[in-house]
Order: sequence, then C-alpha cells, then structure tokens
Amino acid sequence: MEAGCKGCMEVDAAAEVERLWKRMKLREGEAVSDAVYAARLAACEACAALQGGSTCRHCGCLVRYRARLTDGVCPCPGGSRWEGLL
Ligand code: SF4
Repeated sequence: MEAGCKGCMEVDAAAEVERLWKRMKLREGEAVSDAVYAARLAACEACAALQGGSTCRHCGCLVRYRARLTDGVCPCPGGSRWEGLL
C-alpha cells in the first residue's frame, strides 16, 4: 500500500460512504444521476491520483462521496477529469 493518509487508507470506503449518505439529507438536484456517478467513478479508477482505491490524492476526499454531489468537482491540477461526462 502507498504511503498516505492512514485514516483514509484503512476505512472500508464503500461502507463509509453508505454511512455518510444515510446521515445526509440531500435535496432534489443535489446528487447526480446514477449514470453520472458511475462515469465519475470510472474516471477516478483510471486516474493515477486515486490512492488505495478510495481517496483522491489532490483533495483527500473519498471519491465515492464527492462524485455523488452535483457540485462536486474533480480537483485534478491538469483539468477536471469529470468535465463533460454525460
Ligand atoms: S483527480 Fe479527479 S479523477 Fe483523479 S482521483 Fe481525484 S477526483 Fe478522481
């Protein structure tokens, strides 16, 4: 495993995101569609900045969480990898 944030690397990302979503009460329009969510996650999985399969090196976020938000952004310094998805 790469060196990095131990807290992020040791969590079960899928379970943690489920826990976070249950605590949040998003209003209509605050979450992207399942198709956009899947496309964003696919971009992350193909990105060298994804650490431990869960965390973005550039922002420290669990990508499964950030990618669900309508106003979530990809912080890639070279330009967003989510731009223009669907
Ligand atoms: S830079 Fe963008 S595409 Fe890469 S892991 Fe971070 S959020 Fe995902």
